[in-house]
Amino acid sequence: MTKHIFITGGVVSSIGKGITAASLAWLLKQRGFRVAMQKLDPYLNIDPGTMSPYQHGEVFVTADGAETDLDLGHYERFADVECSKNSNYTSGKIYHSVLEKERSGKYLGATVQVIPHITDAIKEAVRSLHDDRIDIAITEIGGTAGDIESLPFLEAIRQFRLEAPRGDVVFIHLTYVPFIRAAKELKTKPSQQSVALLRNIGIVPDILVCRTEVPLEEEHIKKLSLFCNVPEDLVIEELDVQNTVYEVPIELAKQKLDVKTLDLLRLEQRLLDLTEYQQWVNKILHPAGEVSIAVVGKYIKHQDAYKSIYEALRHAGFSADVKVNVIPVEAEELEKYGAAKLLAKADGILIPGGFGNRGIPGKILAAEYARENRVPLLGICLGMQCMTIEFARNVLNWTDADSTEFVPGTAHPVIDLMRDQKNLKKYGGTMRLGACQCKLSPDSRMRELYGKDTVSERHRHRYYFNTAYLDDFVSRGLRVAATSPDGEIVEAVELKDHPFYIGCQFHPEFQSGPRRPHVLFSGLVRAAMERRKVTAGK
Ligand code: GLN
Repeated sequence: MTKHIFITGGVVSSIGKGITAASLAWLLKQRGFRVAMQKLDPYLNIDPGTMSPYQHGEVFVTADGAETDLDLGHYERFADVECSKNSNYTSGKIYHSVLEKERSGKYLGATVQVIPHITDAIKEAVRSLHDDRIDIAITEIGGTAGDIESLPFLEAIRQFRLEAPRGDVVFIHLTYVPFIRAAKELKTKPSQQSVALLRNIGIVPDILVCRTEVPLEEEHIKKLSLFCNVPEDLVIEELDVQNTVYEVPIELAKQKLDVKTLDLLRLEQRLLDLTEYQQWVNKILHPAGEVSIAVVGKYIKHQDAYKSIYEALRHAGFSADVKVNVIPVEAEELEKYGAAKLLAKADGILIPGGFGNRGIPGKILAAEYARENRVPLLGICLGMQCMTIEFARNVLNWTDADSTEFVPGTAHPVIDLMRDQKNLKKYGGTMRLGACQCKLSPDSRMRELYGKDTVSERHRHRYYFNTAYLDDFVSRGLRVAATSPDGEIVEAVELKDHPFYIGCQFHPEFQSGPRRPHVLFSGLVRAAMERRKVTAGK
C-alpha cells in the first residue's frame, strides 16, 4: 500500500518547496523506504516543453522522454528518485485528457465539470504513482495557496484524503515567515492567512514547515500553532542554511520532519545515520582548489535556465575537490566584445543546448576559441552542433556551412533536420526525447571516460549531424566518438589532438548527481584543472 504526502506552499513562491520535498524524500529513503515523487503544476501548457526558459527555466527531461518541470531535476539529483511521465502533471495535461474523453463520448451524456471530472483525473494522476514497490509517494502542488488556478488540485487532494484509509495521507504546508528588518521582528500573519485559505477549502495541514531567515522563538511557534490549527510539535522550522543547500536534509532531520511524518503515516521508525553524509557535506564545503568554467548561453541572465548544467558542474567539482566558479557569458556579448576578452579567465568552456538563431555566432566564436587555444570544451546538443559548424567553416573552409535550423537553404547543411522530423506539424512533445542507447567508438576519449562500450543518455532535439559530410570531418581530425546503435545518428564528436574537446548530441547534465557526477562533466573539470595548473606556471 502506497502512502501519500502532499506538499503545498504558502505566502510566496520560490521558498524551496522542491528542495524541501526532495530533502524529505531523501531522508525517508535513507531510512529504507521506497519513495516516488511527483509535481502538479497549475498552468495550462500540457508540459513546459514549448515554454521559453525565460518563462519557466530549464525543461528537465526524464528517461522515458517527458519534458517536465525543473523541480524533477531536484528530485532525481537530491533524492535519487527516478522520475517518469507520471511524475509531472499540469492543468493542461489533466484538462486535455478529460476533454479527449469527452470528445470520444466516454462520459455518456453527462455534464463534464471541474468537480468531479477534473478532480477525478487529478486523483488518478496521483494514483498513477501507486506501485507495489513504492511505500511513500510525495506530491508537490505547484503555485501558492490562494491562486485561482491551483484550486482544482487542492480540491482533489482534499477528496483524496477523505477517501483514503486513515493514516495514509499527510498534508505538509511550507510557508514563509518573513523577518521585518526595521521592526526586527518575525511575522507569522502571512502564514496564518495562507493556512486560513487552505482551511476555507477543507484542508488543514498536519505539519507546518516554516522557511525563515532567523530562528523561530517559542512565542512564534505557539502563535502559528494556535492560528493555523497545527500542534506545536508539528510546527517545524526550516532555517536558511548557511553554506550549501545540501545542509537542508541535515537541518530537517534535526527538526525531526521525517520522524514526525512517519509517525503520522503510521509507519515504523527505521534507523537513520547521517554521519557519512555530514562528512561529505563538510568535505564539499572546503574544496582544495578552484577552477573557472565559462558557460556560453543565451539565457544566461535567467538563473534557472541552465539549472542542471550548473548543478552537474558543481557535482564534478565535488568529486575533484575543487570549487567550480561558473563564468556566465551571454553569447551575444561574445559577438560584441570577442572571445579572447570574455573567455580569458576561463579554464574550461561549456556550450549548452538551445534553440533558434539568437546567440549562435557567439557560440561559434567560443568553439573556435576553445579549439584554437586548446581550452577544454564540452558542447551539449546545440553546443555540439555549433562546434560542428565552426569546424566546417574554419577547418574545412565551407564558409556557408550551417544548420538548417538557422539557414534552411544553406549549401553545406552540416547539421540537418532528422528525417522523421521533416513532416511534423505539431511542436509539443515531438522532438527525439528521452533515454537512448549510444555506442561509443573504441579508441575515443569518450570510451575512455565512460569505461564502457554502450551508455544510455537522454535526448531532446530535432536536428543532427549530417552524416553525408562525415568523411570530410574525419579526414581533418574531428572524429565520431559515439553513434546510435544502428550508426545512423552521430551522438558525439571529439578532436583527437586537443586536451578536451567533446561535443555530444545528448544531455549528460540530466543524469548527474552530487555524489555520482557525470563522467563528461568530471572530464571537463579535470581538464580545466590541468589547464589552470599549466597557465598558472607560465
Ligand atoms: N535546436 C537543436 C535541435 O533541435 C538543439 C536542441 C537542444 O540543444 N536541446 O536539434
